[in-house]
Amino acid sequence: MATFIVLLGPPGVGKGTQAKVLADMTKFAHVSSGDIFRENLKNQTELGKVAKSYMDKGELVPDDVTIRMIRDRISHPDCGSGVILDGFPRTPAQADALEKMLSEFNGHVDAVPYITATEDILIERIGGRWSCRAQGHIYHQKFSPPKQAGVCDVDGSELFQRDDDKVETVAKRIHVYLEQTIPLVDYYRGKGKLFEIDGTQAVEQVTEKLLAALKR
Ligand code: AMP
Repeated sequence: MATFIVLLGPPGVGKGTQAKVLADMTKFAHVSSGDIFRENLKNQTELGKVAKSYMDKGELVPDDVTIRMIRDRISHPDCGSGVILDGFPRTPAQADALEKMLSEFNGHVDAVPYITATEDILIERIGGRWSCRAQGHIYHQKFSPPKQAGVCDVDGSELFQRDDDKVETVAKRIHVYLEQTIPLVDYYRGKGKLFEIDGTQAVEQVTEKLLAALKR
């Protein structure tokens, strides 16, 4: 039976970075709802067109659209041994839907690392964040700068700032998180799945804590 790990935490806390490291180590599939939406946006699919208006405003894409997309993604063969969910679920309705879809595969959510940081740290982190065009490698102008400004160390592609990482949208995204996603902390704590990790530490330390907790 596949292992399902849900990475929970506010925007900018480093879920994407940690998910990539974990996926490399475990060979589980990294399923990021935000990345799938961005891919659809880039390819101008119908899904991308629907998602765009919400993403531009820092709002959540409607549950039915998001749930359908994730259901489709996790039924792919590369999800057979395990999945690291990054950015999904983000509402109680999505968490319920996830529970139902996993029970169809005879599975369940195994663990929910909850990575935390204060709002001013999140704003600083998101504001300085740059991603590479080719594969989404993530840098920060202060905390993890690329060797050459504007160029990805790994694949040489151009670095850019996500539209929704601009200051105007960041505050809105944090507000949406506090309003709609925070209830999931109690939801998963109540199920005994949640463990909290201080996301203000260095990336390597967060990974270390994450791995130690997942082993337990
Ligand atoms: P992220 O990269 O996870 O911060 O996601 C970027 C944007 O994609 C969010 O601000 C939302 O507009 C949309 N999005 C990502 N995941 C979800 C989700 N689980 N539910 C609804 N909207 C989402």
